[in-house]
Amino acid sequence: MEKAAQIQMLTDFSNANAVPGFEHEFVKMFVDRIEPYADIEIDGMLNVYASKKENQGKRPVIQLDAHSDAVGFMTQAVRPNGLLKFVPLGGWVKYNIPGTKVKVRNKEGVYIPGVVATKPPHFMAAGEGDKVPEIAEMQIDVGSSSRKETLEVFKIDTGCPIFVDVDCQYNEQTEVFFGKDFDDRFGAAVMVNLLAELQGKQTNLDVVCALSSQEEVGLRGAYVTARKIKPDVAIVLESCPADDTFEPDWLSQTGMKRGPMLRDMDKTFIPNPVFQQYVCELADQRKIPYTRSVRTGGGQDGAAIYYENGAPTIVIGIPVRYEHSPYCFASYQDYQASLALALAIVEDLTVEKLASFKQPRL
Ligand SMILES: [Zn+2]
Repeated sequence: MEKAAQIQMLTDFSNANAVPGFEHEFVKMFVDRIEPYADIEIDGMLNVYASKKENQGKRPVIQLDAHSDAVGFMTQAVRPNGLLKFVPLGGWVKYNIPGTKVKVRNKEGVYIPGVVATKPPHFMAAGEGDKVPEIAEMQIDVGSSSRKETLEVFKIDTGCPIFVDVDCQYNEQTEVFFGKDFDDRFGAAVMVNLLAELQGKQTNLDVVCALSSQEEVGLRGAYVTARKIKPDVAIVLESCPADDTFEPDWLSQTGMKRGPMLRDMDKTFIPNPVFQQYVCELADQRKIPYTRSVRTGGGQDGAAIYYENGAPTIVIGIPVRYEHSPYCFASYQDYQASLALALAIVEDLTVEKLASFKQPRL
């Protein structure tokens, strides 16, 4: 895929509106992109199964995973003043929320612009501006003056999803993207790109790219995809939080322009160590930069895939600065390196190598 086409795809993917349970817009965009290279199936949870066209069946299966949803909000109730009481979808911290520009998808499917309202300093008591309100006390204003107007004119009510509204920008000179939802649209783009590169080519294993829904609310889609695919080996393509702007260099384990991160541990997951070592050696051979990370928090679809049938699994993380906030940075070269690594694994893996991951030795 040409660089310009990759950048266009990444920009489009970032701009798509998709929060847990409401992934439709991005699922359609993803399917349109991957369909030339795959046979597609979509389940009722909006998980997408894209099976490489050259798959033969009866061979071990490698599952690639990325998730379609991104963090957002849901309308809980319309307040008497017409503003929305909302709940978070996914892992937000409250100080990242006030002032965020959003879009509310109303009951007719129309996107209504709004903002997480903040009280002007003019009305604050002494010291009030130093505190961040609880999310339950925050409200979204769509420009309505009453509950009746919100319900009847804006057609917004309980259950309407709310999306962060940020346009993706790409800096040609620095090759850095600035926008929202790179977690995990960059991972999804790797799957499209990978199948495009492998179009018409045979691999040693069958390849199924699964786009899972509802990851941000507990890996829910991936439990289903893994149960259906029953992979023999899996690669999770996740966009992972970068720490390079707030950790000292010796402790920084995921940094922009340092290549993909291979996760050694997070709260829910430890990779198969032989598979992990094989991937590190392959990256060294191909001169693909990477970092390794030991995290005490976080989690990703690898845990769900593991729990299903114990398939050797690793995570390739594309570094994203300020993840789970409205505004993020990510670099093209990290995307390219992540794609190169995923491609190298899929092309190099054999049934024999896969068997070696399951031997009780290190
Ligand atoms: Zn993610």
